[in-house]
Amino acid sequence: MDLIKKAISDLGLEPKYAERLERPERVIEFTFPFKRDNGEIVFITGYRSQYNSALGPYKGGIRYHPNVDRAEVILLSKLMTFKNSLMAIPYGGGKGGVCINPKEYSKGELERISREYVRNIYQVIGPHTDIPAPDVNTDAEIMAWMVDEYSKLVGKKSYATFTGKPLDKGGLRGRDEATGRGAFFIMEEAFKIHNVSKNTRIAVQGFGNVGMHLARILYENGYKVVAVSDSKGGIYNSNGLNINEVMKIKNSGKSVQDYPDAEKITNEQLLECECDVLVPAALDNQLHKGNADKIKAKYVFEAANNPTTEEADQILNSRGIHVFPDILVNGGGVSGSYIEWMQNLENAVYEYGDVVQRLKQIMSKAFASVIDEKKRDPSISYREAAYRASIRRLVNAMKEKF
Ligand code: NAD
Repeated sequence: MDLIKKAISDLGLEPKYAERLERPERVIEFTFPFKRDNGEIVFITGYRSQYNSALGPYKGGIRYHPNVDRAEVILLSKLMTFKNSLMAIPYGGGKGGVCINPKEYSKGELERISREYVRNIYQVIGPHTDIPAPDVNTDAEIMAWMVDEYSKLVGKKSYATFTGKPLDKGGLRGRDEATGRGAFFIMEEAFKIHNVSKNTRIAVQGFGNVGMHLARILYENGYKVVAVSDSKGGIYNSNGLNINEVMKIKNSGKSVQDYPDAEKITNEQLLECECDVLVPAALDNQLHKGNADKIKAKYVFEAANNPTTEEADQILNSRGIHVFPDILVNGGGVSGSYIEWMQNLENAVYEYGDVVQRLKQIMSKAFASVIDEKKRDPSISYREAAYRASIRRLVNAMKEKF
C-alpha cells in the first residue's frame, strides 16, 4: 500500500481523503511556437500542476529540464502538498515546468520563454492563488523576468506572486541558503534526540545550492564533514575537510575534486563511505536496492527530493538506519519562500537575523510534530511519522470541503 493511503488508514481517516489526494485539482498544459535567435521556429511545452489547495494558495517551483513532463510535474506538486502541510505554512502544493534543455538556449531566448510561460498561466496564479518559485535550472533572474511579465499583465506590481527573487526585486535575505540552513536545523534536532556528537562523520553528496550551504553551515558550527561531491566525483578525508577551502575551489569554477588534502572518490563511493551521517543533496534515486545494503551511515538526511527508492527505504529501515525524509529535511526552501511572501505582502524588508530565527521556528515545529507521531507509535519510521503529521493537518483542512 502506498505511504499516503497507509497513513490515512492508520490514522483512522475516511478513504475518500486518500482518493482526493491521488489526483491533482488542476493541471495546465500548453504548447507555444517559439522563434529562436536564428529565426527557427520550435514548439515548447509547459505545465503547471495545482495539486491541492486545502491549506492555502498552491506553492511550488518551476523547473526547466528536458525530462519535464506532465507526470513528473504532477508528482512533484503532490510532494509539495505534503511538504507544505508538514511545515505548517498556509500553502497548498503546486509545481511547474518547461520541457527544454536550458543549456541549448541563449539568455535572451530564456527570457522570452519565461515571459511566454507566464502569459500562459497568469490567469490562474497570483499572491493568493498560486505562487511559483525557482527549481531545477531556474533562478532569481528568471523569477525577476516572470514577476515583471506578470505585473505588466495584471497592471500592478505583484512581488508576492513569485518567490526566490533577487534581493533588489523583493527577494529575501537568506533565501539562497534557506534549504541548507533548514536541513541543518533538522539535523541538530535529530542529533539531540539520538545523542550524536559534533565529532560525528558527515558525508554530503552534491555541492550545489543545498549541499554547499549545508556543508558550510555544518563546518561553521564545528561539525566534521568528511566527504562532499559534485557531478565530477567526490573527496574524502576521515579527519574532516576544510569546507571554506573546498568552496573557494568550487566557486572558482573548478570541481571539489581539485581540493588537494583528500582522497578522490566516485559519487557511488561517497554514498558507501565510512561515515555516520549521510546527506544525499544532489539527485533523486541515489539510494536504491543495489547499494542500500552497503550504506555504512547510521543516519540519512534526505536534503534532495526523492533520493531514496521505496526498496532502499525498506532495506535501510530493516537495517535500523534512521532515514529523515525529504518533506522534513528540505522544507527550509519553501519555508524561506513563505517568509519572502510575507515580507512582500507587508511591503517590508526583513533583516537576515530575523529570517534565520523565523526559519528555525518553522523547522523546529515541523520536527516536533514528527516526534509527536513517533511518540504515539514508536514502531513507525521517521518517514511514516512525517507523512502522518502532514496528513493529519491536511485532512483536517479538507474536512471543510467535502
Ligand atoms: P544544484 O543544481 O544547485 O546542485 C546539485 C548538485 O548536485 C551540484 O553540486 C551537482 O554538481 C551535483 N550533481 C549533479 N550530478 C551529480 C551526480 N551524478 N552525482 C552527484 N552529484 C551530482 O541543485 P540544488 O538546488 O542544490 O538541489 C539539490 C536537490 O535538492 C534537488 O533534489 C532539489 O530538488 C532539492 N531541493 C532544492 C531546494 C533548493 O532550494 N535549492 C529546495 C528543496 C529541495
